[in-house]
Amino acid sequence: MSAATTDPDCLFCSIVAGRVPADVAGESEYSLAFRDVNPQAPTHVLVVPRRHVANAGELAEVSADELGDVVLLARTVAEQEDLGGDYRLVFNTGEGAGQSVFHAHLHLLGGRSMKWPPG
Ligand code: C5P
Repeated sequence: MSAATTDPDCLFCSIVAGRVPADVAGESEYSLAFRDVNPQAPTHVLVVPRRHVANAGELAEVSADELGDVVLLARTVAEQEDLGGDYRLVFNTGEGAGQSVFHAHLHLLGGRSMKWPPG
């Protein structure tokens, strides 16, 4: 992967590079999974592409394979966490939708009952 796909000022790029510690829950060629520092469920894992892109739509545009890899790693972690197939996957996109870190990330939430619609 070229240097152009990382941003030295991005927190999640720093976690991917190992410069900032994280509780890693899984990894693959294109993606890294780590536990959210402010968990909203008994299992709350973030799955991020190693490539720096701002959101899921941008990742789809540059590489549908890498977007698919993020989702597959989330499923693998959900299986490892024994969630029994019950979990929620969320991409917040844009500040108004609750995105606070502008490196694409998939929230994997599980281990409790979920309500719909989310707040
Ligand atoms: O969707 P959103 O951009 O708000 O999600 C960012 C997530 O990153 C939050 O759930 C926050 O708790 C998490 N986070 C983290 N480690 C950090 C900073 C933020 O797990 N150092």
